[in-house]
Amino acid sequence: MKATGDLQLLKSINRSVLLRLVRAQSDLSRARLASLSGLTKSTVSALVRELLDEHWLSEAAAPVAAQGLGRPSTPLNIDSSKRVLVGIELAVDCLRLVCVSLSGVILTQTEEPLRDPQPANACQQVGSLVQRLCRQLDEKQLTLSGVGVCLPGSVDGGLVRLAPNLGWRDLPFSAMLADELGKLGIPAAHIHLQNDADAAALGEYEFGESGDDSLIFVNCDVGVGAGIVLNDRLFTGFLGTAGEIGHSILQVDGPLCSCGRRGCAETFIGASALARPKGVAKGGRYLGVLLQNLDAMFNPHVIVVGGRSCIDHPTLLEMARSAQQAYAQVAGLQAPEVRAARFGVQAAAVGAAALVLHQFLRPLLKESKHVPGN
Ligand SMILES: [Zn+2]
Repeated sequence: MKATGDLQLLKSINRSVLLRLVRAQSDLSRARLASLSGLTKSTVSALVRELLDEHWLSEAAAPVAAQGLGRPSTPLNIDSSKRVLVGIELAVDCLRLVCVSLSGVILTQTEEPLRDPQPANACQQVGSLVQRLCRQLDEKQLTLSGVGVCLPGSVDGGLVRLAPNLGWRDLPFSAMLADELGKLGIPAAHIHLQNDADAAALGEYEFGESGDDSLIFVNCDVGVGAGIVLNDRLFTGFLGTAGEIGHSILQVDGPLCSCGRRGCAETFIGASALARPKGVAKGGRYLGVLLQNLDAMFNPHVIVVGGRSCIDHPTLLEMARSAQQAYAQVAGLQAPEVRAARFGVQAAAVGAAALVLHQFLRPLLKESKHVPGN
């Protein structure tokens, strides 16, 4: 690697270290940032200047007197007023777009039916949504930091490996969207693509209360999937399909699943199973089994349950939680916290926006593992 490349990488790592410290603790001074980060005061000072100029950080108008003999310091915080993150959920039947601040506040949200799931047409529809939004951002003098897109399928870098409900396979969606945005005159940098449940997990992780060092998001929709955050990283597995819990088998020789196997979780908890008579009571119990299995496998700090089915069937989560707590009690174990999705039906779209921030804050994160030639 060239020396300049190394230096740029080093600089983005140092910037991300400072941003993460300021996100974790408000009102930090430059001196405190230097001592917490281990960087020299002059490095911190130069990087903070850049981050202020680029509207990542803001500083208080007047310095605050220091305790003891130190010089007065100017507290630094995340600037939530200028930069925005855009997240788009490309669902089977609709497009949801949200624009969120760096602190995770939803500023605008739009939803419209997906007119045509053909990749080129879907891409065009996403492009025109982003174009409309960019006009509004220009009027408000807001800066677009990046666009995150999530969809129901396995994703590897910028490639959609398989999205059965959209009928997509091995589709270079990020490149297609970058082209589309380019044609519309929108800078195409920073497009990120992720599976919907993975994105929703990141949304809860980045914008939730700090302390959730491991978190699983269970998305209950037409199908059932999970996004897993372990040790500050999304865990997506070898081929990007980790968390396909809808096809974990809960009953040997059980009902036939759309995947061809029998007894998959989806045959009890999927939207069509819940719509049957007494489907929610049964689905709630099986969801409890699924949560218990996730706890046994990963022992996460928090399990967040969301998705369309939780809105259509408000009792589902409570039923699952009591089933899961009963399993924990019998074994004399502490059940993890199980809570509802913070952003409701927007969970995946907000997660797609969080993806942009997540990548900014982790310059070493490799986007693609299996694209030949990358
Ligand atoms: Zn299945």
